[in-house]
Order: sequence, then C-alpha cells, then structure tokens
Amino acid sequence: MVETAPSGGSTDPTIANFRALADAMPASVLLMTPDGQVEYANQQAVAFRGASLDEQRGWKTAQLIHPDELPRAIAAWTHCVATGDNFEMEYRVRRADGVYRWFHVRGQPVRDAAGRIQRWCFLDVDIDDRKQGEAMLAQTLAELAASKQRLRALIDTVPGFVWQAAPDGSVEFLNQRWFDYTGMQLEEALGSGWTSRIHPADTAPLGAYWHALLASGQPGSFEARLRGADDRYRWFLIRAVPLLDDDGQVLRWYGQNTDIEDRKQAELSLARVRSELAHVARVASLGTLTASIAHEVNQPLAGIITNANTCMRMLNAEPPNLDGARETVRRTLRDGNRASDVVKRLRALFAKTDAAAEPLDINQAAREVVALLSAELDRAGVAVQLALAQPLPPVWADRVQVQQVILNLLLNATEAMSGLGERPKRLRLATAADASGGVLLSVADSGPGVEPQDAERIFQAFHTTKHSGMGIGLSVSRSIIDSHGGALWVQAAEGGGAMFSFTLPRGETRP
Ligand code: ADP
Repeated sequence: MVETAPSGGSTDPTIANFRALADAMPASVLLMTPDGQVEYANQQAVAFRGASLDEQRGWKTAQLIHPDELPRAIAAWTHCVATGDNFEMEYRVRRADGVYRWFHVRGQPVRDAAGRIQRWCFLDVDIDDRKQGEAMLAQTLAELAASKQRLRALIDTVPGFVWQAAPDGSVEFLNQRWFDYTGMQLEEALGSGWTSRIHPADTAPLGAYWHALLASGQPGSFEARLRGADDRYRWFLIRAVPLLDDDGQVLRWYGQNTDIEDRKQAELSLARVRSELAHVARVASLGTLTASIAHEVNQPLAGIITNANTCMRMLNAEPPNLDGARETVRRTLRDGNRASDVVKRLRALFAKTDAAAEPLDINQAAREVVALLSAELDRAGVAVQLALAQPLPPVWADRVQVQQVILNLLLNATEAMSGLGERPKRLRLATAADASGGVLLSVADSGPGVEPQDAERIFQAFHTTKHSGMGIGLSVSRSIIDSHGGALWVQAAEGGGAMFSFTLPRGETRP
C-alpha cells in the first residue's frame, strides 16, 4: 500500500513504480485526502476528466458526480470517512466533454502506522457499456412483456376460440372465450378434455377427421356443434393450421373456432325453402305428365284385361287349356308389375322427402325419367336419342332431385320444340365423364334456342316466356345442381336449338 502521497514530479522509485502500475490499469485510480480532495490521478483519470493532475489537485470529485446519484454518494462517503469502512457505489461521472458515464467506484482507506487514515485510494471502473446493455435488456424485456400482454388481450378478445395443440393433438392452450362459453376450468379442458363438449352426433366424424388431419400435417376445417355452459349446442367452424419446422415436421397446431350458428340456421331454413320449392315445381310438372303417366299405366292395364279374358276362355274350354292359362297368368303378373313400377317411380318422384345423398347411376336415373316421359315425347312427336357413356365416374347425389332436373330439361326441350310444326323435333340426351373427373349430362334440342342475352336470365326465379309457365323449373334445377357442388348452364346446340348441361362432381364417398 502507498505510504505517502505520490506527488507528480517525485523521483522516488517506489512512487515511480506505483505510477507506472496505476497508469497501466484499465481504470481511473485516484488518491484523495480524507476531506475528498484529489491528491493524485492516473492517466486514465486525467484523460477522462480532461484536466492535468495539477489542475485536478484540490478538486472535489463530488462535483463530477451526476446530480441523481450525488446525495447517495455524499451520504456513503460521509459514512466511510466517519467509520473507515470501504466505499463502494455505482454512479455516473462527467467526462471532459460533459457526457456522463457509469462507473463502479471502490475506495479503501490508506492508514499510517498508528492506524489513522491518511488518504483514500479509489478505483473507478467504467461500466457504462454494461449499464447500457442492461438498460437495453430491461427495456426489451419490458417491451416483450407489454407485447405479450397485448397479444394475450388480442387473443382473448378475438371473436371465437383460439387454441394451440401439440403435434399429437393434445390441447395445450385455449383462450378466455372458450372458458367463458363452456364454463370449463383450465385443467378440465386441456389435453382431450375439451372433446366432452362435442355434440354426440359429431364426436365420431370430428374425431376421425382430426386424426386424419394430424396424420397428414395439412391445414383443415370441420363443422361441429359444441355445448355451452347453458347446455345448449351451437355450430362452430373449427379450423386448424400446422406450424412446421424446416424438415416439414409439425411443431404445433394452431386453431380457431368460429361461431357459425346463425349461418347454419339460415342454411337450414334455406334448404327447407329450396326443398319446398322443388316439391312445388315437381307437382307443377305433374299436369304435363298426366297424359304420359296415364298411357304408361294404361298399357299394362289393357294387357292385364286381355290376358285375364284369354285365361278365362282357356279355363272354360273342354278340356281346360291349363298350360295356356298358366302362360297368360304369367303375362298378367308381368303387366301388373309394370304398372305398379310406374306408380312406384311416380310416388318416389312426387313424394315429399328430405334430400339424401346416395351413390347414383346417372345413366339409370336418366333412363327412368325418359321412360316416364316416353308417351308424352311420342305424343309431341319428339325423336329421342340417348347417348349414354359407359362407364361413368361414381357420384353421390339425391336421386329424386337429380331426376327432377332431368325431367325439367326434357319437358322444357319438348315445349320449346312444340312450335316447330312439321320440322323435325330432335332431342339428344347424352352423358359423359367431364374434364374434372365428375359426370356431365346434356339435353340438346332442335328448338328456337336461347338468345345469348337470356342465357342467365332464364335461370332466375319466375322468369318465363310461356303463358302457363311458372318460371321456377330452371331456377330450382340450378339450385339443386349447385347444392350438389356442380354447375348447370345453357349453350347453343349444334345445328341450332338449346343445349342445357349440368355436371356433378366425382364422389367415391359420402360428401
Ligand atoms: P317455365 O318452363 O315455367 O317457363 P323454366 O324456369 O323451366 O320455367 O324456364 C324459364 C324459361 O327459359 C322458359 O320460359 C323459356 O323461355 C326458357 N327455356 C327453357 N328451356 C328452354 C329450351 N330448351 N329452349 C328455349 N328456351 C328455353
């Protein structure tokens, strides 16, 4: 330790040694008198303060301390002077250019042989960079906390449920709205607990969909009913999106459930209206069909009567012609079944049933409608050509509804050609696999055709050019095809006339 004040110009080797050491230190070294005046400053201190040692002698270093820390520094210094305790504090010191920098300042008393404090030796280490770093870190942390808070508030106010799940699908997070809606506790809902709120009818299909999605790692969505705290169910659109790592592995699933109850209700009532309207349209075509149906039923009935008479004669003969009688009874049965088939088909077509998708053979459905209409087509003098492609891709559709569309198109074509007089009335019904993998059915006639400017208008409800027309046939037909995910349109047929076509998407499984 230093015994005497190392004055600036001293040639004492001990002092020279001390100065060399002090100047080599990466810190300010100061010696101060017990009343706080500078006695010695190393080169760093001289450079920092921009004043020579001689100029600094007699300075009160307190004048250099930042006003914010000054009162604490004075209190600490007063304490140390009184007790001889070591001084240690962090405060800002003013540099020659007026800029304050943070220092970690430590001071120790230097005592004489009798133990009296002669002076204080100070080491001031510049910690400004560290302080700045700490301040920036603190600020970043505060900003992070604030943005986390904002994100949380946002997630909780999003109109719907927001959730997060592990790659195996177990739920790790749900926003406040979920708890508000279900009244569940956090622990109840996590993992697979939330699934207890799915409607029993939706549980299996949603479960199957969710597992398939987890396996595929693809985004997806599903509609299902979820039970609220009031025990009522509401429809939700459940969307899930995977977060992938660089290798395409799922790190997390993020999801959002949107309440679609109102839309669902609107859809259901729309479906009811549509089905009512479709029924009205079908019944409306009954009038046109009556003659055709009467003919269809009359033919087998006439056959039955003839056969029954023949049978009677054969049984009355002497001896009775039993083989002949048996044969005529067989024919009677065949005709009876034919008549009953016609009635069955009619009842199916005009009965009021809810739409139900089933695997549908379009060719078969078309043939049945043509059979129902055959007498009417004959009477109207229409030559029908069937061009049914075989095989056709599978479709799922409501048979009665699709047959109603075909019926509308055939009746419209027949009516359109009614004014042709003696000119040939040709109707061509064709089926084919369409470019997108579904099926296409078209009905082309040789009538007057549809003007391009009417090509859309005719599909509007109540648009008709006929005296007794209702103008709902095409509009109902289009809504039926739309609801099956297909399209219905009109274009000019080859050689004049109109060609109405519709497509139905391919469907190997229930939509
Ligand atoms: P409606 O048959 O009761 O008039 P639709 O909706 O079935 O109702 O048809 C609307 C209109 O479309 C018909 O009035 C007619 O003007 C036109 N239209 C329909 N089919 C054909 C066709 N094959 N050729 C020409 N015009 C047609």
